[in-house]
Amino acid sequence: MSRVQQSFGLAIVLAFALGLGYAGWRMWNPSRVTACQACGRAVQANMRTIAFIGSDQEVFCCPTCALSAGTQMHEPVRFTELADYETGHVLRPADAFAVEGSDVIPCVRSHEMLNRDGQPVPMEFDRCSPSIIAFATRASAEHFAAEHGGQVAMFLQIVSRRPAIPTQ
Ligand SMILES: [Zn+2]
Repeated sequence: MSRVQQSFGLAIVLAFALGLGYAGWRMWNPSRVTACQACGRAVQANMRTIAFIGSDQEVFCCPTCALSAGTQMHEPVRFTELADYETGHVLRPADAFAVEGSDVIPCVRSHEMLNRDGQPVPMEFDRCSPSIIAFATRASAEHFAAEHGGQVAMFLQIVSRRPAIPTQ
């Protein structure tokens, strides 16, 4: 094989490897994920949550779902990205305010659980409930809580109040 042929072969191998890498990056890129990696529900732009569960970074439909995943897997949860409920803009967890336990649970559509008479069934447990809804400012969070109930606090305060991961 001549030197030219060799380097041509190498170029093909390189191009192939780069293509594979790019395809992998596209699939992995969290901004392209549209279904929650824990529960499969659609990820709404204004509830999109990115968090590490142990050492794996995943995309979630809401912060509560990520906390539920951490509890199920007995792994600590570290939030890396939230979305402002009003605008869908990316928020840093350390800067975000949140409302916990309001009457709005964006991941749960009431028609998911209807009894035979077509009445909504009160839900005792859902992995996305009680909801934690993030806001860029305390004023927005308080305005939301005045309409929908729930407690306003810094986001990180709310998630650190959650019960510790069971050790069993
Ligand atoms: Zn989810």
